[in-house]
Amino acid sequence: MAALELAGIRKTYGRTVALDEATFDVRDGEFFCLLGPSGAGKTTTLKVAAGLAEPSVGVVRLDGVDVTDVEPTRRDLAMCFESYALYPQHNVFDNLAFPLRSPRRRMPAERTRQRILDITTLLGIDHLLDRPVTQLSNGQRQRVALGRVLVRPASAYLLDEPLSHLDARLRASMRAELKAISGEDGTTTLYVTHDYVEALSLADRIGVLDAGRIRQIGTPREVWSEPADTVVARSFGKPAINLVDGAIAAAGGVLTFVSTDGALRLPVPGLRTSPGVRAQLGIRPRDLGLLRGAGDLPSSLVCFDAAIYVLEHLGRQTEVTVRVGAALLSLVVPREVADGHVLDDKVVVTFDPAAAHVFLPDDGGRRVVR
Ligand code: ADP
Ligand code: MG
Repeated sequence: MAALELAGIRKTYGRTVALDEATFDVRDGEFFCLLGPSGAGKTTTLKVAAGLAEPSVGVVRLDGVDVTDVEPTRRDLAMCFESYALYPQHNVFDNLAFPLRSPRRRMPAERTRQRILDITTLLGIDHLLDRPVTQLSNGQRQRVALGRVLVRPASAYLLDEPLSHLDARLRASMRAELKAISGEDGTTTLYVTHDYVEALSLADRIGVLDAGRIRQIGTPREVWSEPADTVVARSFGKPAINLVDGAIAAAGGVLTFVSTDGALRLPVPGLRTSPGVRAQLGIRPRDLGLLRGAGDLPSSLVCFDAAIYVLEHLGRQTEVTVRVGAALLSLVVPREVADGHVLDDKVVVTFDPAAAHVFLPDDGGRRVVR
């Protein structure tokens, strides 16, 4: 296994800047997830790492050695593409055996067979070994493509949204399998995805990529609870974090967030910014609650008046949208808390001020720390 490093990578296609000053490293044995929406530059990053695309500026290193000009095949990286290219005329076994039969590798037949069995069992496709790949579902093909990458020993694995074509249940179980494989082998893995659940559950560290720029690198806990800016904050969680527009005011010596129409006011003691600046308050839907009866508000929580705007019952939980002045906020509450409420009901929304974030829209959406 090897450490992989991308330093100051810029990649342009004509006028399109696909990657802008991207810098990160995947440590030896680490599972690193690059998370970003479609078009963020994820595939480009993998191609640059693999040597399939030449960076306009920047350096790629493997174990500290500059490989920017080294041929892809000599980098010894195994890459799984988003669109799986399989040999249509061959069955599953041969598709997996192919990477092991290269003259450079020449793995003995028995070891080849064993390795293919191990990997396909892990991926749940061991019963399909004799099946021509043309007779597979999309989900099965994607697993064959992933198997073809994982079957061969490599310095590092580059995986491009390898679970995107699987249905939700299979995706969840494959996530667990992948975590198990990488945990056991200590394989260096650069994994790209647009699915924040995958990133949070698989990664040792996550790099959040947006429009070719890396906004933050951190552990799943860090990017979730200490987002560097609003882009990172909005990348995690469904429904997405609530962002309320407003400004910082000084009220009785305490810095206070005041929403644009004044309907929401929240003292934020110790905030490191000055009164008068524009601000956005960020609160995750699960950090908000509905007060049931009067007088049962724990002292750690604050509350404000709101009106029910939308109710969506999702099994044991209910997604509630409330209106506070002109702002709409999403809440996720246990079903029994929302039961009995109807549209336009006046409610009292509670939350823990310690869970609130403040961002500065005039400073690139940067989060200000208390
Ligand atoms: P992602 O994988 O995150 O969806 P990509 O890395 O594929 O993003 O693309 C990043 C940006 O670069 C996009 O705007 C895309 O249109 C552009 N791009 C990618 N590959 C090419 C190419 N070969 N030619 C021109 N533009 C490209
Ligand atoms: Mg892509």
